[in-house]
Amino acid sequence: MNNKLIACCGLNCETCDAYIATKNNDNALREKTAKKWAEMNNAPEITAETINCTGCRGTGVKFYFCGHLCPIRKCAIEKGFDHCGLCPEMGNCETIMMIHGSNPDAKNNLCGLK
Ligand code: SF4
Ligand code: SF4
Repeated sequence: MNNKLIACCGLNCETCDAYIATKNNDNALREKTAKKWAEMNNAPEITAETINCTGCRGTGVKFYFCGHLCPIRKCAIEKGFDHCGLCPEMGNCETIMMIHGSNPDAKNNLCGLK
């Protein structure tokens, strides 16, 4: 597991289809991912062309939601934390519960992350 590819919330970007499609420049995976995410989020604006991401905490291109809308990433940046695992409020944070409530692995991924 590449630590830099653990997102602010603890999700592993390395296993995200947008990351994999970008890394491999895989247009078929971009198509498939866009279709799935557009349906799941009722967001027809998600097209294959928008599936480009090098990970939440990297410096490169990001999927629009993660780069501009994600409240967790926004909050961590505003508070000056590299990721939520460094935030003393994490145990009581309702924002991050959006992820940690249904994905305990994300929380575990932040444990011990520098
Ligand atoms: S930041 Fe990018 S790679 Fe990470 S979860 Fe979001 S879309 Fe996937
Ligand atoms: S308050 Fe919540 S979302 Fe914000 S940095 Fe802390 S744990 Fe992350």
